[in-house]
Amino acid sequence: KKIEPKKEEYVIASDTAFAPFEFQNTDNKYEGIDVDLLNRAAELQGFKLKWNHIGFAGAVQAVQGNQADAMIAGMTITDERKQSFDFSNPYFESGIQLAIKKGNTEIKSYDDLKGKKVGAKIGTESADFLQKNKEKYGYTIKQYDTADGLYDSVRGGQIDAIMDDYPVIGYAISQGQKLTTPIKRESGGSYGFAVKKGQSPELLEMFNEALKEMKKTGEYDKILDKYIADGN
Ligand code: GLN
Repeated sequence: KKIEPKKEEYVIASDTAFAPFEFQNTDNKYEGIDVDLLNRAAELQGFKLKWNHIGFAGAVQAVQGNQADAMIAGMTITDERKQSFDFSNPYFESGIQLAIKKGNTEIKSYDDLKGKKVGAKIGTESADFLQKNKEKYGYTIKQYDTADGLYDSVRGGQIDAIMDDYPVIGYAISQGQKLTTPIKRESGGSYGFAVKKGQSPELLEMFNEALKEMKKTGEYDKILDKYIADGN
């Protein structure tokens, strides 16, 4: 089914570095699961996009401040976010996980984080999780604007552990980053494409229609397989 776009062009906010969902390739062009899925959805449904890769917290603000029509950034659908966003159908099943520098044998459970420094990206589900469990495990939190700063800090030993979405940690490890995940991931949390609550319902509808079609034709699996070795 084809839905009629209501705008000449939709401005899409996204993260700066959240591989394999969005990242700059060696030609400095953005690619990844989110980028490919939405670009293909636009082709299939016949709407135009303008990408704005400004970071996760920046994207949330841009949509809420009407500087962007929507965001796709490996954004987890949560009840809290549903108060200010409307989400598409879920397009990826995710979850968060702790990662430490490879070779660190000190941290085997959350209890081992007592007195340690743990990092996460500002405004994310991981940052929320760390905040919620801070008293219980007795660590301190360091927040980062970008994944680069976060991952550099744990590899460099400035912080002891990081919390991030498991496919993103998995991708970093597959790219040779010396990290390891000693604790089983926290389950749950699907990604959704999001608009400001009550706005541009046609955009979500176009995405949902295209997603359904891409799943049917196998294009969805192809895009995932391109970026995630085991298909997940
Ligand atoms: N899935 C996480 C969240 O929604 C992280 C997203 C991201 O860092 N781009 O908070």
